[in-house]
Amino acid sequence: MRTVKILFWASIFSVMCSAEAPPADTSEVNLVIQAALRPSPLEANLHRLTDEIGGRVPGTLAMQHAVAWGIEAFKAAGADSVHTEGFTIPYSWSEGATEMSASTAYQVDATTVGGGTVLSSFRVRAVSVAWAPALAPVKHVPVVDVGDGLEADFKKAGDVSGKIILVHTVVLKTWDDLFAEYTKAPPVIDLAVKAKAKAVAFMATREHDILYRHTNSAAGEIDRLPMVIVAREDGQRMARLLAAGNLVWADLSIPDQVGGPIKASNVVAEIRGSEKPDEFVILGAHLDSWELGTGALDNGCNAALVVDALRAIKASGGKPRRTIRFILFSGEEQGLIGSHAYALSHRAELDKAAGVIVYDSGSGKTTGFSVGGRKDVLFTAKELIAPLAQFDVKELKPDMEWGTDHFDFMLEGVPTFVADQEEANYLENYHAVSDTYDKVDFPQLKKHVAEAAALSVELADLPEKIGARLTHDQIEQTMRESNSVEMLKADGIWDDWVSGKRGRQK
Ligand SMILES: [Zn+2]
Repeated sequence: MRTVKILFWASIFSVMCSAEAPPADTSEVNLVIQAALRPSPLEANLHRLTDEIGGRVPGTLAMQHAVAWGIEAFKAAGADSVHTEGFTIPYSWSEGATEMSASTAYQVDATTVGGGTVLSSFRVRAVSVAWAPALAPVKHVPVVDVGDGLEADFKKAGDVSGKIILVHTVVLKTWDDLFAEYTKAPPVIDLAVKAKAKAVAFMATREHDILYRHTNSAAGEIDRLPMVIVAREDGQRMARLLAAGNLVWADLSIPDQVGGPIKASNVVAEIRGSEKPDEFVILGAHLDSWELGTGALDNGCNAALVVDALRAIKASGGKPRRTIRFILFSGEEQGLIGSHAYALSHRAELDKAAGVIVYDSGSGKTTGFSVGGRKDVLFTAKELIAPLAQFDVKELKPDMEWGTDHFDFMLEGVPTFVADQEEANYLENYHAVSDTYDKVDFPQLKKHVAEAAALSVELADLPEKIGARLTHDQIEQTMRESNSVEMLKADGIWDDWVSGKRGRQK
């Protein structure tokens, strides 16, 4: 058996050796891919950004250090130029030592030792929702279960004024669950404000006591009432007690610190175009993160990807025709504030934008790109991603997506490409204490560097831009054709679009 096997492989080997070696693929895109896959400072860069600098909330020292990291890393990667562009976030916010405990009463048989009414209390692991107001310590406040927090649930719950409402959630498993989490919260908060609740306690959408931080406000404004996320296990314990007829009270203290406007910065590096330097492709990812963990999957790994893509393009020796801008956005987590500011301040030159590529979904395998509703770019885009089939990047989705830094460019009519990625371990660690360096899949991330660098260069080298900048009416048509109006309404964007507050004016 063993001999046969050796003979078999020996014959295959001789066939392979006798065949002519195929000519090496010296196309620019292949050289870029090969350069991206070689060893690089990717891991060391991310180690510095996450383990050494840590979680990066705008307004903090860590965020300042992260901006300095971006500048240094881009320079080391060989950028032709690096600069920062400032913008303002309306409020600063940081969490104090949030504390919550719950107590309940139960009856035991009077014949039992210590019989009668027994009080028990337990700690509830809780964190404040970001950009929510503080709550001075309150004691023995009734907790009311409002189920999913729909209008009918509030009616059923009765009077919740001055009380802490407990809102049920589902465990986060899919991208759809995540978008539902974001669209579900604001109407619950509306009802809670109307019903004069003291505070909202959302059950965590992660199990095993994992806590995470979100904001429910749209663009860096302070929300309308104090809110916490409580560990799923503690939330369910309170819910079970209430369902069984026990009264539950909570002590709650949320000493959040809210301050005035913050200066924040996007970091911008360039490889200057060799033929059309005033036209440009953007490859971007956000640099800021939440701070319970160290923002490794969201979005440190992709900030490091952007830096490494620049390195790979430079190392390949290629000279892209158009300029490529590599941008590390800030204020993304507070509502896409940095990329919105960039799109606004560069509005006058967006006719020259030849595409915006964004990575923001951890290190799960890229399956393709979402092209912002643009059917007109599909044909060319299909050709551009053909060299990425070796990484299983094959799909182009003509839908419009919300939720990351391409968004305001898309609303300005620029062709956008958001990497669609498998969930992998992203959702369980999303914005959580557990979003740390060890969660990053580096072999996969290297492939993403290759994809991002390749697509950037291809867009920069096309004889004509992949698509024209759409007008206001064309963008709106795209929204309707891709059935995106409901999504924009749910995200609270539609009114701003209609009123001209957001997106292309003409
Ligand atoms: Zn992100």
